[in-house]
Amino acid sequence: MEAGFHSGIREVANEAIITPNAIRLDVGQPDFRTPDHIGIAAKAAIDAGYTFYTATAGLASLREMLSAKLEKVNSVNAGLDSITVGPGGVGVIAAAFAAILETGDEVLLPDPGWPNYRMMLDWAHGTPLYYRCPREMKFQPDLEHLESLITPRARIMVVNSPNNPTGAVYPRPTLEALGAIAQRHKLWLLSDECYDQIVLDGTHTSIGSFLGDGRVITVGTFSKTYSMTGWRVGYGAAGAKLVDNMVKVLESNSSCISTISQKAAEAALTGPQDCITEMVTAYRRRRDVVVDLLSEAGLLLSVPEGAFYIMADIAPKGMPARDFAFALLRQKGVSVAPGSAFGEQELGSVRISLASSDSDLREGVSRLCEFVRAG
Ligand code: PLP
Repeated sequence: MEAGFHSGIREVANEAIITPNAIRLDVGQPDFRTPDHIGIAAKAAIDAGYTFYTATAGLASLREMLSAKLEKVNSVNAGLDSITVGPGGVGVIAAAFAAILETGDEVLLPDPGWPNYRMMLDWAHGTPLYYRCPREMKFQPDLEHLESLITPRARIMVVNSPNNPTGAVYPRPTLEALGAIAQRHKLWLLSDECYDQIVLDGTHTSIGSFLGDGRVITVGTFSKTYSMTGWRVGYGAAGAKLVDNMVKVLESNSSCISTISQKAAEAALTGPQDCITEMVTAYRRRRDVVVDLLSEAGLLLSVPEGAFYIMADIAPKGMPARDFAFALLRQKGVSVAPGSAFGEQELGSVRISLASSDSDLREGVSRLCEFVRAG
């Protein structure tokens, strides 16, 4: 079998890594240290002997805390049997795909959208159906288009709000409409809420808070909220039967996630939460800086309300996004993710990550604007 493809973000990032003094605006991970109390808890866990396998679904103590978090932050009710942890949000989403899909089943994916969904379908033998989230609609989903794509083979609808790469946060009526479509067509609804606590304006609503029919899979992660990308702890909540099937997948390919990371995740949930506010405040400040720069240059597409990304219009340059990203890196020393990495909809834009320092953002985005404007 062909092993699929690498993400179009990686391609540029790989060259940026070996480009001296490159300003990295391509990265999808927070630039903050993991809060110290989390690291201290992990070291204590090693000393206390938490160094062996756990249940595949995760330590019961962690799942209890996740149940409380889902209730408090997301208004989602999930008991221990309805929760599993996994190797990052990515591992949980992959387990859900593998647990549900038969060869040729179709999965509704957002375009633009996070490339990994597509990459997973390659080996899960699912077929993607891309629904548009167009710039003209501020990157909100085009519900009519989405519903027009549905065939009897459609099995899962993936919804991602707050969204990577656009920063769009879907209002509750939109989420309700998505839920109604999923119910009408008897689809599983995978709600990727990995950025649920990175909200810059407005509020985030979890679909599972109002659609409790056991067919919603709520996915979360410690990666973004607590700046813990390398610890690899994600989690999913869904009906107990599906969770059991996801656990079988996870059992086959990872047995369980690191016990030390699970204890660190417990410390993240029970410790002080002001680290989240500090990070979100920084993302909001950086978002405002970048919005001003892009707006002055006439390259602003929309103001992100969540996650830590912003799309920039590069159409005036008249270059395809991938070529643009490599040219910007080689000529101006700035690395961004090409819109083409996220699907077919955004071939004339690039994604800028707000998870870079204020000074790098100012300098990097100014160079990008100059580069576009220079024609
Ligand atoms: N979902 C989206 C939309 C993401 O952007 C990411 C990471 O970039 C993830 C899920 C998974 O993150 P992790 O596997 O680190 O939890």
